[in-house]
Amino acid sequence: MRLSDTLTRSLVELPAKPGLVRMYFCGPTVYARAHIGNARPFVVGMWMRSWLGRSGYDVTLVHNITDVNDKIYEAAPGASAELAERATAWYLTDVGDLGLGLPDAMPKASESIPQIVAFIKQLVARDAAYPAGGDVYFRVASSAGYGCLSGQRPDEVEEQEPNPLKDDPRDFALWKAHKPDEDTAWESPWGRGRPGWHIECSVMAEELLGESFEIHGGGLDLVFPHHENELAQSRALGHPFAHIWAHNGLVRFTGEKMSKSLGNVTTLREALDEWGREAVLVFFLGGHWRKPIDFSEVTMAQAAAQAEGLRDVFRAPSHPAAPDAWSRFERALDDDFNTPGALAVMHEWRDHELLTRALAVFGLDSLGASEQAPAEMVELAERRREARARRDFEESDRLRAEIEAAGWEVRDGGGDFTLVPRR
Ligand SMILES: [Zn+2]
Repeated sequence: MRLSDTLTRSLVELPAKPGLVRMYFCGPTVYARAHIGNARPFVVGMWMRSWLGRSGYDVTLVHNITDVNDKIYEAAPGASAELAERATAWYLTDVGDLGLGLPDAMPKASESIPQIVAFIKQLVARDAAYPAGGDVYFRVASSAGYGCLSGQRPDEVEEQEPNPLKDDPRDFALWKAHKPDEDTAWESPWGRGRPGWHIECSVMAEELLGESFEIHGGGLDLVFPHHENELAQSRALGHPFAHIWAHNGLVRFTGEKMSKSLGNVTTLREALDEWGREAVLVFFLGGHWRKPIDFSEVTMAQAAAQAEGLRDVFRAPSHPAAPDAWSRFERALDDDFNTPGALAVMHEWRDHELLTRALAVFGLDSLGASEQAPAEMVELAERRREARARRDFEESDRLRAEIEAAGWEVRDGGGDFTLVPRR
């Protein structure tokens, strides 16, 4: 299997099977309900873990929770820890409701402080970092390959975190001195303070996966400065760090098409409540993970219709697929995890067993779950069939309305009927 890599700007082969695939996908900064866009790296990471595991790899996925960060201190001055705890619970509930399970480990920055301090000490000892007024900065000039991930020339890197005490405007903070309105702080050799964002991920990734691991994922918006800085920090200690940098495209909003009554659905929670988990997953399945994807009422309605089309396959008799059906599906996923390609192959199938097996890779085997209508619905549908047979259309329409009001839809065909849940 091969994957697009941001660092080499090429397709990179994974190690031969069976082998280890250790993955680190940057998780959310917890200060608000997760945006639908925050769900994409989670979904892509969980699906890759699922596919690689089924392909014979020994996979570990780490997805961190950034619970110490400028954004949280700004959102809740004096009460960041409380907000971070609440927003972590929201995130776990919302991604949990996608029905994909959870990553193997979800470390929190606030629980990794001793390891972060130890890592910064090593950087200072090698002169790759220096203290300045209670802060500690990474010395960008000491990093030979700085800029290689984001494609910036080292002498043209944008300034990060302006501070006149820095040796070089490009330097970024590893440790920040405690400020009066911040409710959390830890002791360190440089005084009380807290870590910067980038160092948290270098440390949590290496703690759980080692100094070298196969895949580092996250949104395309994290390439600079976040991932450029993670790479520089770890390489400064001579650690190889990630082999493949897998950045997912962002979720774009074409909000003008959203109806006023629904408002602009922007959080994962709202999307799940409005469309259901299956439509949300089919929506993500329909876009290649590297590319941007448009979220709107129109694209979500299309995803919901595709999900219904897949359910329809299970309402009709099963027909065996062609002998090469599974290998075509496999080829699509092994070639840069092309889920739209795999979905197109799946849409051709009428083979219930094969389709269930493929849908299960993406947590969508529920689309094939049997939909047994309650006995009273079947009885109403029987009475409606009799009414139609005697051409009593008023009664048959009344019964259809009664069935619909109870949440079911009656479909006629070949003198018989099928009851399907209304969505
Ligand atoms: Zn990160």
